[in-house]
Amino acid sequence: MEEWSEEALHDGLRIKIRIDKLLFDSKTEHQRLQLFESKAFGRVLTLDSVVQTTESDEFIYHEMMAHLPILAHGKAKRVLIIGGGDGGMAEEVLKHKSVERVTMVEIDAGVVEFSKQYLPNICKDAFDDPRLNLVIADGAKFVAETDERFDVAIIDSTDPIGPAEVLFTEAFYGNVKRCLNEGGIVATQNGVPFLQGDELTSTLAAFRKLFRDPTCYLATVPTYVGGPMAFGWGTDDASLRQVTEETLAERFKAAGIETRYYTPAVHKAAFALPPYIQDMIE
Ligand code: SAM
Repeated sequence: MEEWSEEALHDGLRIKIRIDKLLFDSKTEHQRLQLFESKAFGRVLTLDSVVQTTESDEFIYHEMMAHLPILAHGKAKRVLIIGGGDGGMAEEVLKHKSVERVTMVEIDAGVVEFSKQYLPNICKDAFDDPRLNLVIADGAKFVAETDERFDVAIIDSTDPIGPAEVLFTEAFYGNVKRCLNEGGIVATQNGVPFLQGDELTSTLAAFRKLFRDPTCYLATVPTYVGGPMAFGWGTDDASLRQVTEETLAERFKAAGIETRYYTPAVHKAAFALPPYIQDMIE
């Protein structure tokens, strides 16, 4: 009898992925964690039955959330990751040898321990990198209290349900801004606008109050069904979004990073928003 993992993230829509081999299924302190092999997507990690990341397309999401803000910034040395328990974001950020310290604040130690063991193709040796400072805590509490400062903040959270709900509030974004150095950039996981438009509208309403340059950029991640995914972008330095493709190419070359999705041309094009999404953020 075939087993299927069923995601019911969106009202009126259920998405099923066949479980070809269940590798792990348990409750952590915060959420139900499942991992399974799927012919279509390789290993698939779900939290509360919502797809978090898959071996087959995680590169798109992690490259676009890590390299785009870091290369736009140009001098990022200290990076904050909120969430990111699977280690994929930290792995991508740590490819930048110019980055001196990555603080990763993940609420669920179970996801980290699990990912080290079951998702080595995603986290690789990120958790062993001496530049990584792993903090097991609620990201909202962390940014409200820390005296650390960052050049880039990446909000790699689950969707605004359960423990991640607090990571989509104006208060949280205000505290993230508090933790940014001058000219700092925040990038947020903001779902698929075609199905989760309210999330993006709400984040950008907060960003418009907090940042001189609030917008979003796009990438299509196949397992986040419904079309292009939006990443919130907030910074007070509007010139960072105007960095030329030539300059990005110089920085990308100097970083010496192999990618399968990110390029300087893709970077620039990611900010070209179709009217149906532009309307959501104005
Ligand atoms: N790529 C995925 C996506 O787009 O949905 C997210 C990947 S990562 C697995 C999301 C992480 O956010 C999870 O490990 C979850 O435990 C963590 N998380 C949720 N709420 C959090 C909070 N309040 N503070 C810190 N981490 C949180």
